[in-house]
Amino acid sequence: CICSGSLGGDTLEKTSKHPCYSAEAHHKYARMHLPVAPRCNIQCNYCNRKFDCVNESRPGVTSEVLTPGLACDKFVWVKEKIANLSVVGIAGPGDALADWHLTRQTIAGIKAINEDITFCLSTNGLLLPAYAPEIVALGVRHVTVTVNALDPVISARIYAFITYQGKTYTGTEGAELLLANQLAGIANLVAQGVLVKINIVMIKDLNDTHIPAVVKKMKEMGVFVTNIMPLIPAPGSAFQHLPQTSTKEVNALRDVCQLDIQQMRHCQQCRADAVGLLHEDRSQEFRMGNRSQDS
Ligand code: SF4
Ligand code: SF4
Repeated sequence: CICSGSLGGDTLEKTSKHPCYSAEAHHKYARMHLPVAPRCNIQCNYCNRKFDCVNESRPGVTSEVLTPGLACDKFVWVKEKIANLSVVGIAGPGDALADWHLTRQTIAGIKAINEDITFCLSTNGLLLPAYAPEIVALGVRHVTVTVNALDPVISARIYAFITYQGKTYTGTEGAELLLANQLAGIANLVAQGVLVKINIVMIKDLNDTHIPAVVKKMKEMGVFVTNIMPLIPAPGSAFQHLPQTSTKEVNALRDVCQLDIQQMRHCQQCRADAVGLLHEDRSQEFRMGNRSQDS
């Protein structure tokens, strides 16, 4: 339900048109992901950098990485063709905050063209404490953070390393640092009225039985929704030989966690350059390389 009493009218209206935050909206409103953030500051063992971020993307090579200027051009092009486009998201292909200046310039540029569009970011959360104030000041009211575990021993098996302020951390030390920043960043965003969605990658025999504890903690922190997603091991990643989590297993866990907080069940694990309604992928039609033939 999106009718949370704490939401301001503007946020409420925008949420009702956000296909990922509102199950009703996903048949009516389109989103586009702008692939302006190629770098990442951590290494998840299920990710191969040649592939899109598993935070928000089906593994697959992103077709293009855009500068903020080209991203604004692409927005104008897509908005002309898809009138019900309501959301612009930045979901990599790396981390939306790893090169914050690129993400910030993109959002500011699109806002100058169309102030009604809803923005959405997805991040691993490492840099949220640094950028949450700017994210809020830019008018972003929907942020997704991937939190795979609270227990640093489990996290240490999921993340190969964390690079933070010029230093690289591994094992439980890296895991503790990542978690501390995620929690501080989420608390900051929630306190400022941002609707936070938590993505959790369900990895069999690794974090699956721990996920209900993660969901309970996220509920306690006031997040809007949790989105348990199946592990899709990227080819070439450290987890490439682990089994993909089945839909049945994910749904069974969502049923358990639904008792605590609403579960997103319609996530498509979209590409970082996805365009269109959630169930359609028009990313190839809207490649900037194809624009001259189209217009
Ligand atoms: Fe890959 Fe995203 Fe993890 Fe970075 S945060 S390593 S881009 S899945
Ligand atoms: Fe929405 Fe999931 Fe696609 Fe992100 S990956 S745009 S949350 S459906």
